[in-house]
Amino acid sequence: MRILLLGGTTEASGLARLLAANPALRPVLSLAGRTAAPAAAPIETRIGGFGGPEGLAAWLRAEGVAAVVDATHPFAQVISRNAAAACAVLGLPLLALRRPPWTAREGDRWQEVDTVAAAARALGEVRRRVFLTVGRLELAAFAAAAHHAYVVRTIEPVGDALPLPDLTVIEARGPFPEEAERDLMRRHRTEVLVTKNSGGSATYGKIAAARALGLPVVIVRQPDAPAAARVERPEDALAWLMAHRAASTRRLV
Ligand code: NAP
Repeated sequence: MRILLLGGTTEASGLARLLAANPALRPVLSLAGRTAAPAAAPIETRIGGFGGPEGLAAWLRAEGVAAVVDATHPFAQVISRNAAAACAVLGLPLLALRRPPWTAREGDRWQEVDTVAAAARALGEVRRRVFLTVGRLELAAFAAAAHHAYVVRTIEPVGDALPLPDLTVIEARGPFPEEAERDLMRRHRTEVLVTKNSGGSATYGKIAAARALGLPVVIVRQPDAPAAARVERPEDALAWLMAHRAASTRRLV
């Protein structure tokens, strides 16, 4: 059974590893191409956009795909909407493989906001030392709050995405353990952390570190996702795929 796995997350990599060991399925992993040197995948991989929902539907039809797993990042809204639209048109089963968001614990000092632009506004008028970890693509929102001092961490070079007078850039790829995050925040005398509520363990260290240091966190809530069946673990996504394969084999008999 031909499967499309929309990736770019730890969960997608986990499912790719399971699929590589399963000869019953013919998966292809799709990446947007935002990372110049993505980690090598153990299954067939394609890179780049499809050309909107129509392009995706045409691609699915041409490839004879029988089911789609959307394992994109919770903040990658466009591709998830496109996948839902294309699967609806073709009548294909769609599964969202998505980690749950983090929830605040005792000691957390969270200010929750709905957008990255709102996070920039929430930093306020008084100059603060900010640790900014919202990803490279949405940094431009902070140009409207140029009076703060920023330490920005991204996987890819920031380039001119954030032309700010007081900017330190750290290029690094997670996971980021709590102890290293505490050291980093102490070293840079961080006063506030800004992050998306991405969920998962790979980048939770900064949340735990901010709690330990008593620092406030401006955190962007996850956007609503299109309606679809949903699981949180790669193992459960594989079970869902195998159940669909069994059902389609029964229909053919
Ligand atoms: P997005 O805004 O939802 O998508 C923008 C366009 O990028 C889509 O319309 C699609 O182009 C293309 N695209 C996105 N994901 C794709 C995929 N897996 N395969 C092929 N094309 C894809 O996405 P984004 O927020 O820029 O995220 C891009 C990628 O980075 C995703 O794979 C996501 O999982 C990963 N990521 C995102 C974040 C985040 O905070 N947004 C964080 C970590 C990782 P077409 O319309 O031409 O098909």
